[in-house]
Amino acid sequence: QALSQAQRLDQQVAVLFIDLDRFKLVNDSLGHPVGDRLLQEIARRLRAALRDNDTVARVGGDEFQVVVCNVAGPTDAARIAEKLMRVLGEPFVLEGQELPVTASLGVSLFPRAGASGALLLKYADPALYEAKGEGRNAYRFFSPEMNAQAHGRLRLENDLRRAVERGELELHYQPQLDLATGEVCAVEALVRWRHPVRGLVLPNAFIPMAEETGLVLGIGEWVLDEACRQVALWQREGLADNLWPLRVAVNISARQLQRPGLDGTVRRALARSGLAPACLELEITESSVMLDPQHAQSVLQALRELGVQLSIDDFGTGYSSLAYLKRLPLDRLKIDRSFIGGIPTDSDDAAIVETIIVMTHKLGLRVIAEGVETLEQRLQLVRQGCDEMQGFLLAHPAP
Ligand code: C2E
Ligand code: MG
Ligand code: MG
Repeated sequence: QALSQAQRLDQQVAVLFIDLDRFKLVNDSLGHPVGDRLLQEIARRLRAALRDNDTVARVGGDEFQVVVCNVAGPTDAARIAEKLMRVLGEPFVLEGQELPVTASLGVSLFPRAGASGALLLKYADPALYEAKGEGRNAYRFFSPEMNAQAHGRLRLENDLRRAVERGELELHYQPQLDLATGEVCAVEALVRWRHPVRGLVLPNAFIPMAEETGLVLGIGEWVLDEACRQVALWQREGLADNLWPLRVAVNISARQLQRPGLDGTVRRALARSGLAPACLELEITESSVMLDPQHAQSVLQALRELGVQLSIDDFGTGYSSLAYLKRLPLDRLKIDRSFIGGIPTDSDDAAIVETIIVMTHKLGLRVIAEGVETLEQRLQLVRQGCDEMQGFLLAHPAP
């Protein structure tokens, strides 16, 4: 009815899929009678927030659907979604207990999303799914680009499968500075994909996909080989004589860490290139270590025995247990750039950075700051006793 009326009057209709976040927790901890009363209360609030000729339905356990007629457009629909999130966000009090509720919403719009009710519902679903993926308490729209994105992703994945053999990957290098001597002590190798149509693609746009599909294993092997080859060549050509012994840092993904045989891969890359093991550093993110700390410990031990250096990347973002960290055979911690960005204005960031530096030194490790963009940041890091830095202030990654 709503759709045919909208068609006649040239209006738009919004369908909102609402899914409560963590409703199961209420049921499990307070019992189903409380859960039922919460659902009734939620339904009342939804009805109160909408107009009389809109429709609210409970379609499943903790799922509601809303049909809103005569919507002016996406902005109007967004306002409605926000209003619903707001009324649900006010705490519910049941049996003297305050129950915080948040909801995720998927929104589709007639006629843009589809010409039938079935299509509108079909497209609100992935939007809801995306909203959940955003960390809940969010709303997302169906958009035609969403389908295109899904298709584009598949195409990209197929392209990535052939990127290594077609020679489309390349490494850019970003220098790291020793703050005590003022000299470049290392470079970090950062992979780029020279896509024939899309141009230069940055790692954040394809490494996560490579992780999911396992393609990162082949890519990672190529990166190790190429980084060792290049730096050994620079050393032989004498281009790095003043920087001797120039070290190269290579990023290792979680998948590479999990898969047996990483030490063999590294040993082969060193042997093929003739690079001294001490000139190779492997950067492992804090979060990939914490996926399986015990396994990580034995892998890092094997790598350490090859004589390569080891560092923890993006430190401060991965909920490390200091107990595990202490047991790992590490050379260096790399403070995540999100903390460096707050210097000097954010006093919390400054305190965190200082604390990491002190802690790292107490553990007998060196510490490097990444993402240093301003002179003030560099000066403060020097004052706080940081050993090394990397960032746009010094240089962007370059071929
Ligand atoms: P990462 O290892 O933390 O690398 C540093 C990233 O910070 C690089 O981004 C670099 O360009 C950027 N960066 C450097 N200085 C600054 C600065 O001053 N300000 C800001 N805002 N950013 C700065 P990039 O090259 O896009 O790489 C992103 C991430 O992709 C890397 O983060 C790393 O986790 C991953 N990655 C890069 N290459 C590889 C690789 O060969 N293998 C794997 N597994 N991951 C890689
Ligand atoms: Mg890194
Ligand atoms: Mg990092």
